Amino acid sequence: MAVPAIEALALLREGNRRFVNEVRHGAGVSQARRRELVDGQEPLAIILGCSDSRVPAEIVFDQGLGDLFVIRVAGNIVAPSQIGSVEFAAAQFCTRLVVVLGHTQCGAIEATLEQLQRRTEDQSRNLRSIVDRVRPAVWTLLETDLRNDPPAMLRQAVRANIRMSVNQLSHGSAILEQLIDEEGLMIVGAEYSLETGEVEFFDGLPRAQT
Ligand SMILES: [Zn+2]
Repeated sequence: MAVPAIEALALLREGNRRFVNEVRHGAGVSQARRRELVDGQEPLAIILGCSDSRVPAEIVFDQGLGDLFVIRVAGNIVAPSQIGSVEFAAAQFCTRLVVVLGHTQCGAIEATLEQLQRRTEDQSRNLRSIVDRVRPAVWTLLETDLRNDPPAMLRQAVRANIRMSVNQLSHGSAILEQLIDEEGLMIVGAEYSLETGEVEFFDGLPRAQT
């Protein structure tokens, strides 16, 4: 049975609250739970998060084995393999909630802003492929007054990049569009604060949830 997106979202919010308050259940990682999952999984949410070592999705949402289908890539960018992974999980496991989870002080976003401002050429082609995916979300910020306030610019850029990923997932796949229209799939953007441990959901929510 698919857990409706709104319910999954509430469970993630509760889990994050436990994490912040240091009352994590830490349940769901027992050997018994592992055995239960041998024959299948029904993850309650798909998370497209950043690879940053400080933002492990299962820990910050206090979830266990089999609860989250997690895709991690620097800068939580959307490339075809990320879309394919989300399609796979949404179609195979009936998971109805997708969360793009960015975070404050993201190094991939910082590197992109730096590259846009200094045109550094010493990047590897592979690293550049990440920067290239972030750039469309953030380059217009460089033409605003935020130029003079680098910390504020980074904050805005992190959010702009999360919004872009939500948008790309929402409109970049016929399979996902169909699941949104017919099965109640929800794709939302969220930002994890390294400073507080809190996850703020801020994009793609139905009005009652904001
Ligand atoms: Zn990051």
